[in-house]
Amino acid sequence: MHDLRVIPDSVWWAEPTATFPTFEGEMDAEVLIVGGGITGICLAYTLADQGASVALLDAGPLAGGASGRNAGFLMVAPAEPYNEQIALWGRPGAKAVLECGRRSHQRVRALIEAHGIACDYRANGSLRLTRTEEEAEDIRASLAALKSDGFPMLELPLSHAVPPHAVERFTASFVTLEDGELHPVWFLHALAAEAGRKGARLFGGSAVTGAAWRGGVWEARTERGIARARTLVLATNAWTPRLCPALTPLIAPRRGQMVATAPLAREVAPRPTYAHWGYHYWRQTADGRLLMGGWRELDPDGETGFDAVTTEPIQAAIERGLSELVPEGTTIERRWAGIMAFARDGRPLVGWLDAEHHLALCGGYTGHGLAMAPACALDLADLLAWRKAPGISTFDPSRFAELRQARDGVTALGVAAE
Ligand SMILES: Cc1cc2nc3c(=O)[nH]c(=O)nc-3n(C[C@H](O)[C@H](O)[C@H](O)COP(=O)(O)OP(=O)(O)OC[C@H]3O[C@@H](n4cnc5c(N)ncnc54)[C@H](O)[C@@H]3O)c2cc1C
Repeated sequence: MHDLRVIPDSVWWAEPTATFPTFEGEMDAEVLIVGGGITGICLAYTLADQGASVALLDAGPLAGGASGRNAGFLMVAPAEPYNEQIALWGRPGAKAVLECGRRSHQRVRALIEAHGIACDYRANGSLRLTRTEEEAEDIRASLAALKSDGFPMLELPLSHAVPPHAVERFTASFVTLEDGELHPVWFLHALAAEAGRKGARLFGGSAVTGAAWRGGVWEARTERGIARARTLVLATNAWTPRLCPALTPLIAPRRGQMVATAPLAREVAPRPTYAHWGYHYWRQTADGRLLMGGWRELDPDGETGFDAVTTEPIQAAIERGLSELVPEGTTIERRWAGIMAFARDGRPLVGWLDAEHHLALCGGYTGHGLAMAPACALDLADLLAWRKAPGISTFDPSRFAELRQARDGVTALGVAAE
C-alpha cells in the first residue's frame, strides 16, 4: 500500500529539500485545501495572492504524491491524437484541453520568473516519436487541425530527433516547440514557501481523516487537530474517492513507473519525449541523467491501485527502452513508482462537487496533471469566489450523472461519512 508519509524515492528527492510543519491544535480559514501536490500548492498560492485566508493539509511531505514522482514534462497536448479528442469532445472541448496546457505552462513560467525559482526549467519543446506507420498517420492526420487552432506540431526528420543508432526503432517524429520541462519538487517547494510568505498556512504529515459540514462551516479532522473553513477543496487526486466514495466509479488509481540513470557523457534525448502513443516517455536532465518511464500498457490491470512499488516486468521493459537509446549500457541509479488519477472519461474534474455546501474538487488529470493543474487551480480560484471560469467549464464534475444525483448534498467526508 502507498504510505503517503514516506519521502519518495524518485530522482527529485535525491537532495534535501524544504520541509513543512505538522498541524496540531485548531485553526480557521476561509478555504481549506486537502492535498499538497501541484494542484493544492498552486491553488494555495493563488488564493493567498488574492488575499484569501487559506490553509493546506497534506498527509505526507508536500509534493510527495504524483507531483514529486513524475517526469517533469510541461506538454501542451495530451498523448491522444487531436482528431481523436475532437471526435470525443467536439472542437471546443478538445481545444479547451490545449488551452489549459498552454495557460498552465505560461503560469509556471510567470511564477518562476516572478520569484526567481531555480528548478532547472527549460522550454526547448517536446517530441513525439511513433513506433508504427499507423501511429504516424494518426498524428499526421491531426496536424492541420492543431495548426488551425493555434497549436502547431511539426513533423521532423527522425535523424534530427534521435541518435543515429536509434532511428530504425521509430517511424516518425513530431515537435511541439512551446513545451518545456522542470524539476517538479524544487518548483513546488519554492512555490509553497512563497504561498507561506503570502499568508497561506501549509502543513505536511497531516492526513485529513474526515470532515463534516456543521453550521455552515467545514470541520476537518487530522490525528492532532481540527481545521475549520467555509470552503473545502479536495486536491487529493487518486486518493479523493477515499474521502468521497461517490467518486469511486469516476477516479481510478493508476501506477506509473520510472528509472533514472547515472549522468551520461552525451546527449541522447534533446527534448522531453513521448513515444508509442505516450505510453513510453523519457528526457535527459540538465546533469545528463536519462529519466525513462511508462510501459504500463504491458500490464494495464496490474498497473492499478495504490501500491507505489516497481515491478520486474515493467522495469525490464523500461530497461529495453533504455538500451534503444544507450546501447552501450548505463547504470540505473533510481527506480520508483507513483500513483496517478485516471478519470473515467479521461478529462479532469474541476469545479464544485457540491456548491451549496462549498465543496470543490480539482484532479483526475489522467497522467497529465503537471501540465494542467496550474491553470485549473487559477480558474478554480475564480469559481470559489463565485466568478465565471470558462477555461474549466468543460471539466465540470457535474457532467457525470452520478454526481448530479449526489448533489442534494455531500456534507460528510472520510470517517465522518461512515
Ligand atoms: C511516473 C509518473 C510520471 C508522470 N509524468 C508526468 C509528466 O511528465 N507531465 C505531466 O503533466 N504529468 C505527469 N504525471 C502526472 C502528474 O504527476 C499528476 O497528474 C499530478 O502530479 C497530479 O497532481 P495533484 O496535486 O493533483 O496530485 P498529487 O501530486 O498526487 O497530490 C495529492 C496529494 O494529496 C495528498 N492526500 C491524499 N489523501 C489525503 C488526505 N486524506 N489528507 C491529506 N492529504 C491527502 C497526498 O499525500 C498527495 O500529496 C506523471 C505521473 C507519474 C506517476
